[in-house]
Amino acid sequence: MQKGFIICVDDQPEIVGSLMTQLERAVGHACEIEVAESAAEALQVLDELEEQNEQVDIIITDEIMPGMQGSQFLEIVHNRNPNIMTVILTGQAGFDDVVYAVNHADLNRCIKKPWDYEDLKSIVLDLIKKARVKRMNERLAQDLVTEKNKAEAIVHSIADGIIVFDGNDRISLVNSACTEILGRTEEELLGKRILDVIELKELIMLLVEASHRLNEVVSNEVVLPRAGGMDDTTIIAIAKTLRDKDDHPLGVVTVLRDVTREKEINRMKANFLSTVSHELRTPLTSILSTYELLLQESLGELNEDQREFIALSKKQGEFLSELIENLIDLTTLEANRMELLTTPLDIETLTRELSQEAKEAANAKGLQFELVIEPELPKILADDHKITRMFKNLLSNAIKFTEHGSVQLQICRVQEGIQISVCDSGIGISSEYFDKIFDKFFQVDNSSTREFGGSGAGLAICRAIVLAHHGRIWVESTLNHGSTFYVILPFTPYNQPDNEHQASS
Ligand code: ADP
Repeated sequence: MQKGFIICVDDQPEIVGSLMTQLERAVGHACEIEVAESAAEALQVLDELEEQNEQVDIIITDEIMPGMQGSQFLEIVHNRNPNIMTVILTGQAGFDDVVYAVNHADLNRCIKKPWDYEDLKSIVLDLIKKARVKRMNERLAQDLVTEKNKAEAIVHSIADGIIVFDGNDRISLVNSACTEILGRTEEELLGKRILDVIELKELIMLLVEASHRLNEVVSNEVVLPRAGGMDDTTIIAIAKTLRDKDDHPLGVVTVLRDVTREKEINRMKANFLSTVSHELRTPLTSILSTYELLLQESLGELNEDQREFIALSKKQGEFLSELIENLIDLTTLEANRMELLTTPLDIETLTRELSQEAKEAANAKGLQFELVIEPELPKILADDHKITRMFKNLLSNAIKFTEHGSVQLQICRVQEGIQISVCDSGIGISSEYFDKIFDKFFQVDNSSTREFGGSGAGLAICRAIVLAHHGRIWVESTLNHGSTFYVILPFTPYNQPDNEHQASS
């Protein structure tokens, strides 16, 4: 540890000399000793030590000196640096001088001349300890302030809004982004209950939910209406309970992210995709029907080569048409508006039709195809167009990702409803991707998957279709051994087989 300094001041050289000798003996291991014969000289010493960044622990001064009095000198010292311990050493100082020094220089001790060495030693050792504790406390307090300022600067410079509620549901911290998002000043928010300052039902519900679901992160989309004809702001609010180190709840911290722009961009993207897809679908439909006419030889006889090329082109056209259908479905998903046109659906008839096409595609790759249907399945209320799309996506994936072996489509009745399973002996999926593959545009990233092409939209659409029917979809798979995709379309309350045709959204 760095040594501190003791400055001794007395106009009598023999006194400062004796003080110096005794102090060196008593505390020389912990302090350097400096001497001065007047207050002015002592102030100079103090200046020099401060310039050299040295720490002064104690000043011991005589009271009655020519020039400045000891008590006045200590007052100046105390005003410059209140951490220095002050001692008056005197034989003649009056009561008033001491009172003055106590009141104006926070005088720590008074030593009477002639002093006892042991007394001097214990006083000085005690004051050194006090001076160092005081300095350390000050340093810690400064560090705390610096850390607090740093933390505040970080919180305020975060682009997302942050709002913290204490255990009594009162706002205890907001950053600049938050005040901007909520359109309120810090003063308007701090210390208030959310109900008193904000009328956003969704945000209030979210905070209530966060304080009840103690270990979970809860999030919600909240629309903030803007005054003066300005566009509404959409924010995602994410809340989590704040806890101390012993896991006791301290309140709720909520992050508010302005997603207005992202939403607008997504909407524009979806519109663009939707327009392009619809524009592509019309000419493609007419191209495909021309191929069909040609293959039926309604426009004249074809030789073998012509038939082969046209059949190939038709197949590619159909693949393109599937892709466009997926894109159109995806745009409806993005806009959260998957509409179902439900009718009582005979799942057996539908799967038998679809299986014909799937069998041809599987056989063309040298794969076995098997359809297993439980007899006398009840009709279910479903959108046959959407269910067809779901089957096509699952079957085409099973065939696409299988090089050897077989693909099996199985339909049976289970307690909840009708279960569809599409099983293949293909490349399989690692368990870490079981959820992710149902996300939009997600493809398991290995070179073999890339080889098979595709847009990564199929399973996201399947999931949306199944969810719109209030059903469930999941996968079970072993890498390199194959996958089985399961779908359950429930009977009740939505899917009663006897219900009449209905349209719902
Ligand atoms: P796409 O097939 O167009 O890539 P999907 O959304 O249909 O998109 O599938 C997403 C990803 O899930 C695929 O890219 C693939 O990695 C994986 N996947 C889907 N079905 C299977 C399957 N039967 N076997 C192995 N992987 C599959």
